[in-house]
Amino acid sequence: MIVYKSAEQIELIRQSCLLVSKTLAHVVSLLKPGVTGKELDIEAETLIRDNGAIPGFKGYNDFPATLCISKNDAVVHGIPNESEFKEGDIASIDCGVFMNGFFGDAAYTFALKEIPDETLKLLQRTKASLYKGIEQAIVGRRLGDISYAIQESTSGQYGYGVVRELVGHGVGENLHEAPEVPNYGKKGKGIRLQEGMVIAIEPMINLGTRKVKQSKDGWTVVTGDKKPSAHYEHTVAIGKDSADILSDHAPLELEIDKNDYLREILI
Ligand code: MG
Ligand code: MG
Repeated sequence: MIVYKSAEQIELIRQSCLLVSKTLAHVVSLLKPGVTGKELDIEAETLIRDNGAIPGFKGYNDFPATLCISKNDAVVHGIPNESEFKEGDIASIDCGVFMNGFFGDAAYTFALKEIPDETLKLLQRTKASLYKGIEQAIVGRRLGDISYAIQESTSGQYGYGVVRELVGHGVGENLHEAPEVPNYGKKGKGIRLQEGMVIAIEPMINLGTRKVKQSKDGWTVVTGDKKPSAHYEHTVAIGKDSADILSDHAPLELEIDKNDYLREILI
């Protein structure tokens, strides 16, 4: 069942999303070779709690951390650990918070200099596909229009693998609500989008095969062929003329710009 949100509730979700953006920006300011995921996770949890909020992922189905850090061939749900970031790594960092009764959720894939051109293109095109999906997140369109836009701009033109086992989702009082938002689908199909719907759109796109596997840690999802994977996510409210993007990648992109160790992902 889809839970429709009032304008006031959407503002509360926005506050949670903006804390996610602030947290990711802080994490990015620290991201460089030699830093561990575990260190970033502690920083993120401290910042979230200092802002009167609760990490949204920690304890969710027993997930043990504040951030999901998924490096290189990891698609999503990577557990922050003691391994150090090194030059040439890419990493999806996904963060959720719970504040004032509502969740916020956003993710971004970062690249430590230098990465192969084909990996850079994967990141740029995955990020672009997120915005292609968001363009369809308007009243009167169908859920399948979002899915199709993402699929068409990644697998269609470029032959990337669109992950099917994991999907976007509604966001509200629960981290994962109806509807599911797949990154593949048919134009004009699925439920009609209406005001009051808040969804996380999150393309997970692989350079090679779309097939994924679960790691032994029980969480990390990795590509079937060990090739890299990219993941970008915004939480958005369906709008009349355009979607209202509740999370904000601008603060973290500003930090990327200031960080000499990171590659900008310009689209
Ligand atoms: Mg997320
Ligand atoms: Mg999500």
